[in-house]
Amino acid sequence: MGNSVIKATTIEINKMKEYYSRFLSEKVPPGGVFTAKTPSCAITAYKSGKVLFQGKDGEVEAAKWGSPEASQKVEKKASASHLPANFRSMSVIGSDEVGTGDFFGPITVVAAYVRKEDIELLKELGVQDSKNLKDDKIIEVAKQLVKFVPYSLLTLHNPKYNKMQGSGMSQGKLKALLHNQAIQHVLDKIAPEKPEAILIDQFAKEEIYYNYLKGQRTVVRDKVYFSTKGESVHLAVAAASMIARYAFVQHMDKLGQKAGFVLPKGAGAQVDVAAARLIKSKGADCLPEFVKLHFANTDKAMKLVKKG
Ligand code: MN
Repeated sequence: MGNSVIKATTIEINKMKEYYSRFLSEKVPPGGVFTAKTPSCAITAYKSGKVLFQGKDGEVEAAKWGSPEASQKVEKKASASHLPANFRSMSVIGSDEVGTGDFFGPITVVAAYVRKEDIELLKELGVQDSKNLKDDKIIEVAKQLVKFVPYSLLTLHNPKYNKMQGSGMSQGKLKALLHNQAIQHVLDKIAPEKPEAILIDQFAKEEIYYNYLKGQRTVVRDKVYFSTKGESVHLAVAAASMIARYAFVQHMDKLGQKAGFVLPKGAGAQVDVAAARLIKSKGADCLPEFVKLHFANTDKAMKLVKKG
């Protein structure tokens, strides 16, 4: 369980109350200001200024508002996914990937090191979850980031992706290999400086992640944490995701130039139509260079071609 306690001012508590307004509960304990129950977390704020987050996502939720103090933790459990106190203000390597759900284009994985003294600057630049931002904004911010944030970008282009995937490697394993490698590169880059923690935007359970990495020469494990929605837990993950998106968009532009038309992102129906157009102009043999072959879109595109 990820229970957490943070200290908050009355103004902050009022903001929280508004934020959780959909989930407010009528029962408030003695000394309490409000109680809210989201599907994965119960929040109770007290007049003393303490706010208690209980349940599966307690820590993630608490991290949105402030830093839990170690002495105030409700429950301490030895688990690598258990985030240390003050996590969001630590110097952290974050890693994230883009392109895994897109039929066209590569997978880009980025690990980025954000020093605590740069966190305010990142906020100022507008670093946040790239899923909330349009591509042109992401590109604008990412261009600034790459100037001073130590990072490693790994791009798994379609031909190699298809080869590895076709030889029986799952996408999860591919991602694990890339994350591990990108993080190692950043550690090498910043040495002898060391991050206080490493946060991987979670795509597989921790044991599964390390299972994927069995047999690798170096497996980074020290101070490694996993969290879903990692972008909201530490800006290092948000920075990594923006740089990864920036790289992905650039590769998509290049692929589009090769194809002769703009290639759509995602894996929806418009992607099938674009792939069919590509097959008609260049032949099906060109597909491994442009797409992730194992997606159902390959068959759908072939069917569209046959229909004429
Ligand atoms: Mn992610």
